[in-house]
Parts: sequence; C-alpha cells; structure tokens
Amino acid sequence: MSAPPRTPVSRRNLITAGAATTAAALVTRPTSSAHAAAPRTDPFTLGVASGDPTADGIVLWTRLAVDPLAEDGLGGMAPSAVEVEWEIATDERFSTVVQRGTEQAVRGWAHSVHAEVDGLEPSTDYWYRFRAGSHVSPAGRTRTAPRRNGHDPLNLALVSCSHYAWGHWTAYRHLAEEQPDLVLHAGDYFYEGQFVEGQPRTALPVDGAQELHEYRRRYAQYHLDEDLQAVHAAAPFAVVFDDHEVVDDWYADDQFIDRRTAGFRAFYENLPLRASQLPSGSTIPLYRRLHWGQLVTLHLLDTRQYRDKHACDESWSACPGRLDPDRSILGAEQEQWLADGFAGSTARWDVLGQQVPMRQMRHWEDPTKFKIDKWDGYAASRDRVLQSWQDSDAENLVVFDGDVHQYWVADLKTDWDDPDSETVGSEITSTSISSGSDGEDIDLPTDPWLAQNPHIKYHNLRRGYTMARFDQEAMTATLRGLDYVTSPGAPLETRARFVVEAGVPGIHPESIAEPSPPGALSPAENGRRSIDLEEAD
Ligand code: FE
Ligand code: CA
Repeated sequence: MSAPPRTPVSRRNLITAGAATTAAALVTRPTSSAHAAAPRTDPFTLGVASGDPTADGIVLWTRLAVDPLAEDGLGGMAPSAVEVEWEIATDERFSTVVQRGTEQAVRGWAHSVHAEVDGLEPSTDYWYRFRAGSHVSPAGRTRTAPRRNGHDPLNLALVSCSHYAWGHWTAYRHLAEEQPDLVLHAGDYFYEGQFVEGQPRTALPVDGAQELHEYRRRYAQYHLDEDLQAVHAAAPFAVVFDDHEVVDDWYADDQFIDRRTAGFRAFYENLPLRASQLPSGSTIPLYRRLHWGQLVTLHLLDTRQYRDKHACDESWSACPGRLDPDRSILGAEQEQWLADGFAGSTARWDVLGQQVPMRQMRHWEDPTKFKIDKWDGYAASRDRVLQSWQDSDAENLVVFDGDVHQYWVADLKTDWDDPDSETVGSEITSTSISSGSDGEDIDLPTDPWLAQNPHIKYHNLRRGYTMARFDQEAMTATLRGLDYVTSPGAPLETRARFVVEAGVPGIHPESIAEPSPPGALSPAENGRRSIDLEEAD
C-alpha cells in the first residue's frame, strides 16, 4: 500500500496545529461548559461507534445510559437534554486533536448522539471520544475513505445476523483485532424475538421487543456486550437492516406500521447513521452509496421496505408468482437508482451491500422449489438489476449479503440453468456472527445443494465473518469460521479463501480447509440442517 500524496497546508492543518497546543483539553478542561443536567454517574456504558466514512468525514455515535437496562428503555437518564462534547485526533493518546464540537443528546432520541464530522484528511486513521460533564467515553478508532480519485486498497469485513441470545459474539472480538478499514453489516444486527428454551444467553425483555421502549432496552443490552463494543471501537460500520430489526420476514405494505415506526427509530438511535438516514414515522431512507476512491463503490440496498408481498405463503415453493414481472424486491424507484449508479460508475469494483441471497438456488430435494423470501421470490427484479449491470460500462460486480446463517459462494449467471452461460458477477453470502447457534462442517464434495446448483461453489455451516480485500487486481475473500459460539473464547479459524480477478468474471477458490472432516454431516443431514438454519433467518 503506497503512502497517500502529501497535501498542501490547508485550513484543517491549521486547526490541527492550533489544537495540538491544547492536547487532552477534553479530559482536563474545567466543567464550566458542562450542561447543568450532566449525569452524576458514568453515562458512557454503551460504547462508541463510527460509520459511513467519506474522503473527508465520518459520523460518530454514542448513546447515554446510566442504567442501561431500565425497563422504560431510556437508560435511567433524566428527561432533560445533555450537552455532549466530541473530539477527534490523529493519535490514540489524543495529543493531536484536530476537531471538537458539541451535540445535544435528547430524550426523544433516547439520548443518542450522531456527530457528523467533515474536514478530515482522506485515507487516515482517527481516534475519537465523547465527554458529558466530568465523564469521558472510551475511545474509538475510525478511518476515512480515500480521496475520490484514489486507489488505496480496501479491507472490508462482511458480517450479518448477530443474534444476542443464540451465541457469544466471539467473531466480533476476532474481527476487532483485524482492524478492517470498514465493516459492512448486511442486516439482522438485532433480533426482536422472545426467549427460546436452549438459548445460551437471555435477551431482554424475555417476551421480545414489540414497542419502542422494548426495542430500546434490547439495543442497550446489545451495546453492553464487550465484543460488540470492541468491534465498533475498532472500525467504522456501514449498516443496512434486514427483517429482524423490525419483525421476522416483514415486507412493505400497510402491515406492521407501529412496529416499523418503533424498529426504525430504535435502529437509528443505536447505530452510527447520518442525518440523511433519519427515520420519519414508519419510513426510513436507508439505501445510499459509499465510495472508496476509484476502487470500490458500495451500493447499500434496502430489500425490505419497498418489496412486494411474498409471492406465496410457503417458505420454499414453486409458486409461479415469483416470476411475475410486476413484482419487485427493491421497488421501481430503487431499481432505477441502482441502474443509474451502475451507469455512472467509474469504480474498479461495484459492490452491492444488501440483505438476502441473490443467486438462484433450487431446493436440494425438490428442484422445482425456491426460497420465496429471497431474490428467488422476485426473479424479474433480479433480472432487471443484472441487465442494468450488463447495460452499463461498470467493470466488476460483487454482491455481499448474509441472512441465512451459512456461507454460500456463487457466480451470478445470465442463465441460471446453463452452467456455460455468461457469468455477470459473483456473490458471497456470509455466515452469521451467532444466529443459528453452533455450526457444523459439511462434506463439500457430496453437498447436495452444490450438486443441484453448479454455479454455487462453496457452502459451510459455521459461524464467523468474511474479510474481503479489494485492490486494482483482485478481490480476495477470507472466510473466517468458529467451532462454537454457545460458550465464549472459540479460536479464529479460516474455512476458505476465494478470489475474483478484476476483468475476469467468476469466483474461484484459492484454498479450502480440509474437506470431509470427522463428524461432517451426511448429504441428507446437510440438506435438512441448511434449511433449519434459514428458518428463523
Ligand atoms: Fe438472520
Ligand atoms: Ca433475515
């Protein structure tokens, strides 16, 4: 990785020089500027986070709570607003603070803080922290994107499906240690459901989250988790939601208005999102783009809010409605926005960061059946998206998603049932952080899913995350896996590594861990277990 070019002295450099003389001011300054309502006990119990980097900016997040699990979801905070100061520095010890500012944390937004900082340098590591009264938050590390014409590599982590109750977040802990440039959370960051017998952890409230105070309380419990705090403090996130941030398998219609209103609000309050994603009632403007210089354009999609109703009630079905050209998983407006994004792309790589698997997948036992909640249930919408990709001059397409609690690596085809047809792009469906509990190894050579779907190259049922490195020549994805999540401390292991070479459509393995390990599932067990894992996805 070459050093970024040096920039001439700018206003920002001057701020840097001036601020350096008051190093650590945030910690030592007298409390005269503190709001009268500053809490007496430490309100920084929920950690810090950052998100949606640009070449010159970032959004910094925290949420105040002196009693995080208070039943009203308001973290034991007094009703009044609290003035929260933030500062951002170029070093871990905050000896060179480059900017600081203040935000009001108000009860109406559960005393959350979303400070949007601009005027930063591109391709630069920063450290940030907050202060309220005499209390100082833990520090977080973040990173800005390269300048718009830059080609710096991107180490992008892909994560999904972090169910609190079904497992420990050891994978987040390992990911924090890798210090990626950016973490893409593809959805199911949060699960709304009630306690189920056998869960190794108990999510509060035990009857599940349905009303705003319940979503807020459960998010607070999530943010108390030290592994989650560690990963947020290690790298900026780009987040999209899937269904469980509201309710299982919801779709846009007039259903679940109250739960959408509550779920979206709590989602915004608890994640590092910019004001451009501020929810309004039962809607939230979620889809957006991030640019990593000229290297990667990340199109963050919303496949929930604008989708048509499921084509039929069965989870796996051959129902003809899935082919209806009038149905869409993105909605007409977002489909057009994406087509425009492809048409205008000058990036080496266009990455879709989205929720549910896009490739066609036939049922292992009955190949007439498809999973109706995924892009397979909206086949014409998928055709239009891939056609708009082909119609554009964009260079390399990679689709990143999660949702189904297992790894699937696939090529995206012009004709799914003809393995010799043109490959349009490739997809990595990343496994869950914890959803689905402990996973299993499978015997890849006898996998009945791969036999039925030759464009699918890999399948694995372990928990973990994907580390993807993008540069001008290739995208190299390392599939991390853990042996267990029902107890803490599983060591990090690599299950496989896949590569897409720029300009050469198709994904291929660089290495795959020993196939058919002892105790691997039989083909029929694999077929059934893979469907079980999806059941509460
Ligand atoms: Fe899930
Ligand atoms: Ca899901």
